[in-house]
Amino acid sequence: MGDVENDALRHGFETRAIHAGQDPDPSSGAVVTPISLSTTFAQSDVGVHQGYEYSRSGNPTRTALETCVASLELADHGLAFASGLAAEDTVLSVLSSRDGGAPSGRVLLANDAYGGTFRLISKVWAPRGLAWSPVDLTDLDALVAGWPDDTTVLWLETPTNPLLTCVDIEAVSAIAHERGATVVVDNTFATPYLQQPLRLGADIVVHSATKYLGGHSDVVGGFVAVSDGTLAERLRFTQNAAGAVPAPFDCYLVLRGVKTLAVRMDRHCSNARAIVDLLVRHPAVERVFYPQLPDHPGHAAAAKQMADYGGMVSFTMAATDRLSGEDAARRVAAGTEVFTLAESLGAVESLIEHPAAMTHASAAGSALEVPASLVRLSVGIESSADLVADLEQALDDL
Ligand SMILES: *Cc1c(COP(=O)(O)O)cnc(C)c1O
Repeated sequence: MGDVENDALRHGFETRAIHAGQDPDPSSGAVVTPISLSTTFAQSDVGVHQGYEYSRSGNPTRTALETCVASLELADHGLAFASGLAAEDTVLSVLSSRDGGAPSGRVLLANDAYGGTFRLISKVWAPRGLAWSPVDLTDLDALVAGWPDDTTVLWLETPTNPLLTCVDIEAVSAIAHERGATVVVDNTFATPYLQQPLRLGADIVVHSATKYLGGHSDVVGGFVAVSDGTLAERLRFTQNAAGAVPAPFDCYLVLRGVKTLAVRMDRHCSNARAIVDLLVRHPAVERVFYPQLPDHPGHAAAAKQMADYGGMVSFTMAATDRLSGEDAARRVAAGTEVFTLAESLGAVESLIEHPAAMTHASAAGSALEVPASLVRLSVGIESSADLVADLEQALDDL
């Protein structure tokens, strides 16, 4: 990690979020990175240009975003994509075939991975020949004992979605590397403000920029950060060859969101703590999942590798005389006013959802199935008193 780490040592996270890749525009002095809509770029002689030829291959607004988020992840290279899943698809394409031939090898996928990642691997890549198995990354002895010989990729999230289990990135990366596998960490929930997986030994970081990086529920985007130059070159080749690139306006929106990532994350974390304080003492709640809680699986890993515990909170509802846990969960999810009932996460507004019927419906019947009594919160940055009162009212009203 050459230049970027030097840059990182020179400037703090908040400064890089606002300035990395975003020098004033040399042609006009514009302080805000312009949205470069041009699809093609003039050449002064055949093959002589200023670094841009055609906007799928490279675009100045995209370069600004790629430089900025790479710097935040302490990565030497960053690649922006049209969505998180487009980023993941490109990573799977590169990791499953060294020479562009038929896919081979095996992905070990953390057993409470994001439903869309599970679907992409099991329904799109498995039929093409990429093997996969679900794994429990909280039991490292079992991971080592059950490690399939043909494993080429270990794919994990931490904190996971939706149970917020935390995985020791350093420990699992060492296990994977001893066995020749590449480690991919989906850093969507933590963001580079709270956790930098490459620094902990991971090889590739992926993001749904749709979530905290964008931060305002108004843009779909994806990102890949990597420091290995050969991997970066192969990813860049596929980014251009397969073409899952983001529009310049989308790059602008993510870049604008990233500028306030640090202050937003601080508020997401403190509001989440206020909500957790309510949930742990409320009798309608059976169990609370938040990495800061000492009894939470992976609390030690989170404390070791995260700067704070994030804005996502999940909980299961207790069954009552009248209601099953599932029915109670559905009622709470539909019973709030400030929390909006909706999928997605990571933006300024608070969201509530029922994973078994919504975000994780496609995992039903699989190893990645989630409890039917589970409710997931994406705690936003509204007034914490309003959020606590809103959720308390919904829990009291069952
Ligand atoms: C949303 C999400 C994705 C997929 O990203 P899209 O931008 O929706 O394609 C991947 N991983 C996690 C953890 C997510 O939350």
